[in-house]
Amino acid sequence: MIAEPKQRYDVAILGGGLAGLTLGLQLRKALPDLSIVIAEKRQGPAPEAAFKVGESTVELSYHYFGDVVGMQDHLEKDQVPKCGLRFFFKAGDNSDLTQRVEIGPARFPPHFTYQLDRGRFENELARRVVAAGIDVLDGCRVQDVEVGDEVHSFTATREGSELSMTARWLVDASGRAFLLKRKLGLEEQNGHNVNSAWLRLAGGFDIEEWLRDDPECMARMTEPGLRKFSTNHLCGPGYWVWLIPLSSGPISIGIVADATIHPFEQMNTLDAALDWLAEHEPQLAAVLEGRRDQVEDFLKVENFSYGCKQVFSSERWCLTGEAGAFLDPFYSPGSDYIAMANTFITDLIQRDSAGEDIGKAAQAHNELFLSAYSTHLAFYEGQYPFWGNAQVMAAKICTNNILSWGVNALLFINGKLADIDFMASVRKDVDRVWSLNTRLEALYREWHKLDPREWHRGGLMTLFPGMRQRQADLLAGFTDQQLAAQLAQNADLMEGCAVLIFDQAAKSLGDAAPPPNARINPYAVSLNPDRWEAAGLLPDSGLSADEARQGPAGGLETWWMDVFGQPV
Ligand SMILES: Cc1cc2nc3c(=O)[nH]c(=O)nc-3n(C[C@H](O)[C@H](O)[C@H](O)COP(=O)(O)OP(=O)(O)OC[C@H]3O[C@@H](n4cnc5c(N)ncnc54)[C@H](O)[C@@H]3O)c2cc1C
Repeated sequence: MIAEPKQRYDVAILGGGLAGLTLGLQLRKALPDLSIVIAEKRQGPAPEAAFKVGESTVELSYHYFGDVVGMQDHLEKDQVPKCGLRFFFKAGDNSDLTQRVEIGPARFPPHFTYQLDRGRFENELARRVVAAGIDVLDGCRVQDVEVGDEVHSFTATREGSELSMTARWLVDASGRAFLLKRKLGLEEQNGHNVNSAWLRLAGGFDIEEWLRDDPECMARMTEPGLRKFSTNHLCGPGYWVWLIPLSSGPISIGIVADATIHPFEQMNTLDAALDWLAEHEPQLAAVLEGRRDQVEDFLKVENFSYGCKQVFSSERWCLTGEAGAFLDPFYSPGSDYIAMANTFITDLIQRDSAGEDIGKAAQAHNELFLSAYSTHLAFYEGQYPFWGNAQVMAAKICTNNILSWGVNALLFINGKLADIDFMASVRKDVDRVWSLNTRLEALYREWHKLDPREWHRGGLMTLFPGMRQRQADLLAGFTDQQLAAQLAQNADLMEGCAVLIFDQAAKSLGDAAPPPNARINPYAVSLNPDRWEAAGLLPDSGLSADEARQGPAGGLETWWMDVFGQPV
């Protein structure tokens, strides 16, 4: 950390958390001569374990932290390898995990990901940021920011003194302090009202202990002892609970719940949260009951999902991380959005440093980032009522993964997101996937209303071929031409999935379902027969279920609950 900052920098990053520190390192690699300052309110190193949430990474964020930021060695040595995302759905009173439908990998997935002890990770990031010659001002609270024409400025207090600095670029990475967002009036609410409360439990806990006496459950995995490395999700109507192991020893346990179904007052103190768990997740509550003295912390956040009117500007200010928009942690996308925002910001600063007019790039990056955000919002907004419905969630997890692997992660890992011309050339296929996803999310709501049955005793541990290929594609390098062709294929896959999911879900309509093997317009699927004609569901030229089965979505039927689960 430095004692005497300069008066003027090329880039000032306000906030030295996950987003600010990783951006510092990414910028330093891209532009070694840039002068960068990071102003961070906290003084000294972060504590391990009981620090922040944001502990689970997925393919995109792992690639960012490991390869782009250069933290691969640290991840391998000091963090926990992750055995994918794993989900258990409601069965009865949730007192017996063996009865709950499980979806998750049988072994470590081919693409590495890690669980992060956030304190440990940020301390190492800070060490490397300082070693890279970036000025880090710790104990420095930014008080005000001013966006100017030629330079921007900010004032701060540090060790009782007032500081005032200027910079050509200003990046708000202050998390929920929202320094720039408030100043510029960029706040935007969304319709997703969720709350969360969490704790860390010393000594950890292995969820497989609940399955050990059940040979069928144990045989689902290639070897015992892997489930504890997953980000485990215990899902029920209106909520889910995460279990994430941390390298420093404890396990992170958190509730995320739709405020309209589970009011915040039911979980906003440790006692209330434990009572809530006793009611909805009694098996977990029993573990905590005997170990209250090992609870290391208890934290909470209310109504944590929000949008942002603009995140990147040609006037050389940007927002990254939670200072911008935040969705929902169900698929651990927080770090993905940090990766994407930081990559767009780095690209803009590189263009600016090269003397380019950044107007067009800033507009394109802003539009792409916010479109990805609003597409992902459809995963969550209004969807929590069916979170315990294993049948609907299996289809949802499938299509959500195809979108994440087949578009966002694929483009990011191949380094194309900030390539404006390339993105314009493939946007039609990206939009096909995104709009199919939005349509399907509406269908999932309808499906749950028509068929809210509970399912039990099923394990789905394998991907169908089309899905497995999208996951494998993340490890392959593509030329631009191959990547464009791949995106078109991924959109075809999503169309096939939409037709097959509709075909399966429409069984819940009974006699009102379309005739078997009718041609279906995948962009118009819904379970409301009154809408079909106007929406053009049954054109002459659509895709029939049989055709979809013979195409890239073939094998999706192995994900139907009546194939691998049993109705209660
Ligand atoms: C319940 C929940 C669960 C989540 N789980 C996951 C997950 O599993 N995986 C995932 O990828 N993401 C997850 N996230 C998201 C993740 O937590 C965030 O994406 C991430 O922590 C945001 O990092 P950040 O750097 O933007 O903010 P922070 O890490 O909060 O950093 C902001 C920094 O700014 C500093 N600061 C604030 N005000 C000032 C000031 N005035 N002056 C100077 N400095 C200041 C703060 O001290 C802090 O260090 C989750 C989020 C929630 C709410």
